Amino acid sequence: METLSYENGIIYEFNKDNAYTKKVASGTTIRIETYDCFQNQIQSPETEVGGIDWDKINPATGPIFVEDAMPGDVLKVKIEKIEIGDQGVMVVGPGLGIMGDHIEEMGSKILPIRNDKVIFNDLEIPLNKMIGVIGVAPDGEGVNCGTPGAHGGNMDNKMVAEGATLYFPVATEGALFSLGDFHAAMGDGEVSVSGIEVPGAATVTVEVIKGETLQHPMLENEEVFTQIVSAETLDEAAKVAASEMIERITAKSTLPLSEVTMLMSAVGQAEICQIVDPLMTARFVVPKWVLEKLDVQLI
Ligand code: CA
Ligand code: ZN
Repeated sequence: METLSYENGIIYEFNKDNAYTKKVASGTTIRIETYDCFQNQIQSPETEVGGIDWDKINPATGPIFVEDAMPGDVLKVKIEKIEIGDQGVMVVGPGLGIMGDHIEEMGSKILPIRNDKVIFNDLEIPLNKMIGVIGVAPDGEGVNCGTPGAHGGNMDNKMVAEGATLYFPVATEGALFSLGDFHAAMGDGEVSVSGIEVPGAATVTVEVIKGETLQHPMLENEEVFTQIVSAETLDEAAKVAASEMIERITAKSTLPLSEVTMLMSAVGQAEICQIVDPLMTARFVVPKWVLEKLDVQLI
């Protein structure tokens, strides 16, 4: 299998001018190793969180040039497997997350991971392994790896998990795909500003799809198809996610817009991904059984 390590190259910004670290054919399966979002700088309770290098945050491994990917195409990324390290770290601090006005000092906590559980004091938290930062180079200016957008990036969406398939709008030749910022577990919202941050490795299959157009990333898993949107406010992100999904289903079904809108109001879920990054991220979630009954193939 093809492999890529963070030692081959990392980015702090998704940018179409970044030099690629690996070139692969469409359809390639590749195992990609990643640092945690602090570039593994916090390994023990003794580490002064305030003293780490804050320029080394959210490194993503890559970028990977996918042959045949051209602007206007869609890059399909199937997450075959997620492996994680044996300890995680969480942080809080002034100005960080939704409690940042109430927290006066930087704090961190090392969390051992054993037998598929994260040990938090005497609590055992079930794993929900997921990828926080994943995406392609955006059109125009670069976007730092802490910010989500139409290119993906720091979406912090707990559905980006093993077995999920993502679809990204390709903005530059080769797509320039990268990922990082794995979490052993994270709740919707990511309220403290950190998940349970872990280094890891993801095995993904990348494939170029021609003839489809996307404004924002989509994700599917066994049960659902989702539209993911990041915007200044959560309201706007959720509304755009829902409206893009409704328009896409309308374009691909025989139902009129009015009926698709009613149907989505009945069965679709507007959900929060995260509310702590520079832009907010929401997803609109549609059960696949509905799409199958309508005979709608979204991508
Ligand atoms: Ca993140
Ligand atoms: Zn993270």
